[in-house]
Amino acid sequence: MGNDYAQQIERQLPMVRDPEIVRYINVLGDSIARVVDERDLTWRFSVVDEAEINAFAVPGGHIYVNRGLIERTTNMSELAGVLGHEIAHVTQRHSMKQMAAAQRANVGLSLGCILAPAACQGIAGTGVSAVAQLGFAKFSRDDETESDRFGVKYVTRAGIDPRGMPSMFRILLQERERNPGGVEAWFASHPVEESRVRTTEAEIAKIDPVILSSLTRDSPSFQAFKRRLASLPRSTVRSR
Ligand SMILES: [Zn+2]
Repeated sequence: MGNDYAQQIERQLPMVRDPEIVRYINVLGDSIARVVDERDLTWRFSVVDEAEINAFAVPGGHIYVNRGLIERTTNMSELAGVLGHEIAHVTQRHSMKQMAAAQRANVGLSLGCILAPAACQGIAGTGVSAVAQLGFAKFSRDDETESDRFGVKYVTRAGIDPRGMPSMFRILLQERERNPGGVEAWFASHPVEESRVRTTEAEIAKIDPVILSSLTRDSPSFQAFKRRLASLPRSTVRSR
């Protein structure tokens, strides 16, 4: 099922196909995904050529990050934090749980678009139910907290500084104050509150400071990846 969704998404959303970009996000993503306890998943990481800030996961192990989110990051650990969080949504089977709940309630799947709302408009009426159905994945606060906790664990195990995760959430909260529309999709699917950021920071504070200071925060290859992404022409599929 996850593979079907992934195929539809990639037909309908503008994807960044540049080989260096695809390679880097997969190297970084795999470095985190290989430390998870669930071994039955096949991971694939992709960059969506959308300016709006968003990231989402499809059951099975397909993770998508919008170009606009990557552009807001300042260092590698912030992107790693987002990947760790999305990986945790997959390993904890949050989307599957939501779908089962919807089926039990016999209400079908709600269609709040977690993707860029404009992208959803663009595909409305083109029979793209799978992409729209991803909207069911409006995670509960408990799911979010769990993903933060596992995300911190995963990136730390991968040797990456987990402080990038709360740091990225703070960037998103600031962005929401400045430009609410630009982060709407992210907040619709991943409710972030100041208190959640503090909970994540408290979780990180339990880690031995010596270990914490030994973890990687940034890398030249990440900065090269960001520069390369900035140099690529933008998708001609306008989001609004
Ligand atoms: Zn989330």
